[in-house]
Amino acid sequence: MSKMDDDYLLDKAASGARLVPEEGLVLYAQADLLDLGLAADAVRQLRVPGNLVTYLVDRNVNYTNVCTTNCQFCGFYRPPGHAEAYVRTYEEIGQKLAELASVGGTRVLMQGGHHPDLPLTWYTGLLRYLRKNHPTIELDCFSPSEIDNFATVFKMTIPEVLVELKAAGLAGVPGGGGEILDDEIRRRVSPLKQSAQGWIDVEREAQRLGLATSATMVIGFGETLEHRMNHFMRLRDLQDYSLAEHGNGFTAFIAWTVQHSELTSLGRSKRKEEYGATATEYLRHMAMSRLMLDNFKHLQASWVTQGPKIGQVSLKFGIDDFGSTMLEENVVSNAAHDTYDKMGEREIHHYIRDAGYIPAKRDTSYNILQVFENAADSESVPTLPAVAPRQTQDVIPLLVN
Ligand code: SF4
Repeated sequence: MSKMDDDYLLDKAASGARLVPEEGLVLYAQADLLDLGLAADAVRQLRVPGNLVTYLVDRNVNYTNVCTTNCQFCGFYRPPGHAEAYVRTYEEIGQKLAELASVGGTRVLMQGGHHPDLPLTWYTGLLRYLRKNHPTIELDCFSPSEIDNFATVFKMTIPEVLVELKAAGLAGVPGGGGEILDDEIRRRVSPLKQSAQGWIDVEREAQRLGLATSATMVIGFGETLEHRMNHFMRLRDLQDYSLAEHGNGFTAFIAWTVQHSELTSLGRSKRKEEYGATATEYLRHMAMSRLMLDNFKHLQASWVTQGPKIGQVSLKFGIDDFGSTMLEENVVSNAAHDTYDKMGEREIHHYIRDAGYIPAKRDTSYNILQVFENAADSESVPTLPAVAPRQTQDVIPLLVN
């Protein structure tokens, strides 16, 4: 491809026109990084015009680290019976939501390992308990691979499981476990996890039921650009389908780079040098995400894996949302030593403003709750809240209710 072809594709992309995968691959492989950023930023302004950068005050809660799936990149899980295995009690989880509410949080993202024994009533009971005692917190819980595990353990279909969870108070299904939606990669790094189609099927059903959903992607498993493009196309196709069928598609897309250290099998493997991705690759990937996912409105930064500075830079590469406070994050943080496991609301304001934008607090559905036009407005928000840090050093004995 010539420079003229690149320019034509960049102009086409920047206009918001749909790129076919072959065109996307050309840009991904050879376009100048800053040109990609400019095109992605132009599309960001088409989809989300203006100078606001949004963020969410939320908390990740992990109700159990017991898991039977043994993903190669995971440093979080413990096998059943392990001395550090835990299942949080309803009261412990409720206390975490109370802390979240006390700092103005509106959403909990609750996920766990693939527990082999907990019954459906444990999960529905938990949702009802949280709904009753913490009604201001939206419950986005259980990623597609957990839902898949539930269906196996409960001997139910995916739709049956989702209907029961929704009736108990579930508001959304987070997009965890997407990694790379290509089975060639999934068979290598998470062979016991659901297939790419399985992940899509759960999200499609959740969208059909009116639940909130988000899409995720993790790069750096040694995948090719074609694998990444396959992931984009699966998401874009489902988004087209769900928006046309019932107007309820993914609210947002977030990607990050795989974290690995000696804490994970991936990081201990002989091929460990092949894994991971640089900040430059991350920025290129986010720009391509904005250009290929033309039916997604919101793209989130991943300051947890990239650090706040690259999070800021990514706002010029098609991203319109700084993600969330994650008052507690355990899964990504337990895969490596150098991730950032929490950021207060005031710190988020600082980084957004420092990058030339205006911070705006939102809810899960991207409704703006408050705009902090001037720096003085930020002084009213809390600094780092006093909540517990990572969990692994803070485990409790196995408590199966
Ligand atoms: S990533 Fe999730 S499914 Fe995989 S081992 Fe970790 S907890 Fe289990």
